[in-house]
Amino acid sequence: MNSLEDIIKNVKLLENLYDDLRIVDPIKKKVVYHKGINNFPVDKNCYDFWRKKSHCENCISSRALVEKDNCVKIEYTGNKVLLIMATKILYSDNRYILETFKDITNIGIIADIENKSEEYILSYIKDMNNKIIRDDLTGIYNRRYINDKLPVDIISVKLSKMPCTVVMIDIDDFKIVNDENGHLIGDNVLKDFSQFINHKVNSVNGWIGRYGGEEFFISLPKMDKEESKTFIEEIRLEIENLCFNYEKKCLKVTISGGIYEIKGSEEIDEVFRNTDKRLYNAKHKGKNRIEM
Ligand code: GH3
Ligand code: MG
Ligand code: MG
Repeated sequence: MNSLEDIIKNVKLLENLYDDLRIVDPIKKKVVYHKGINNFPVDKNCYDFWRKKSHCENCISSRALVEKDNCVKIEYTGNKVLLIMATKILYSDNRYILETFKDITNIGIIADIENKSEEYILSYIKDMNNKIIRDDLTGIYNRRYINDKLPVDIISVKLSKMPCTVVMIDIDDFKIVNDENGHLIGDNVLKDFSQFINHKVNSVNGWIGRYGGEEFFISLPKMDKEESKTFIEEIRLEIENLCFNYEKKCLKVTISGGIYEIKGSEEIDEVFRNTDKRLYNAKHKGKNRIEM
């Protein structure tokens, strides 16, 4: 295949199988082709279709870009529940995603849907989609989301030439927190800690996920490593002085972190390795510090 017209010609063969079918540019989040019962103009943002103001948290076109398998999710248009499947199409240097929609309003996925409010349906679908991308304990993004979103951030660096820095954070001596206070309080520290950092990271348009146990992965788009260092150093200091209060006790923790600025040509494992190496240095040099 060598042009978008060629792709569209091939895709047209599938039109009768689905209610809607569209081709999306997952980096620019633009619709380049849409055909189906729900008329939708080309060149709009792909998330406009779902009446969202910015890109979907559970963006399956991004996921499809990096996963070998097709990706599936459910969305609500206001009067229909749609099952969306996303599949990667490759042509020249660009990567496009084919999304197909199937109307599943009446298959019983939401019982008695005619008598449910729009608010209820939206929150039901949001819960369902959240289960895929959020960590049960802390509510922040999970490892799956990190694995899906990081490649998109890497490609964005390459295409936009804007910087993006990532940070791996690990709570220091967390085993002692558990040993001295019990696992349940340890869980509460993880929850409150996550909420605290999540709020900070969101305020600069970054995202954070739980990488595992007491390790967290942060992405800071549009920040170079010096800006990130300043930002994360501030958080490190705030955490050091923060009291996590349980059972009238003030619990304190410190964090170590490794910072790595993405070049744009790496595989995701390379990014994890480089970030981890710097985190290891921070631990090695005595903890409660950020290494670049
Ligand atoms: P270091 O400073 O080297 O990171 O020491 P550490 O004790 O934090 O690291 P280590 O990897 O030895 O232990 C991590 C601890 O985190 C042990 C494990 O029980 C605890 N942990 C991991 N996940 C959870 C969780 O979901 N809940 C609780 N309460 N503890 C957890
Ligand atoms: Mg630790
Ligand atoms: Mg650890």
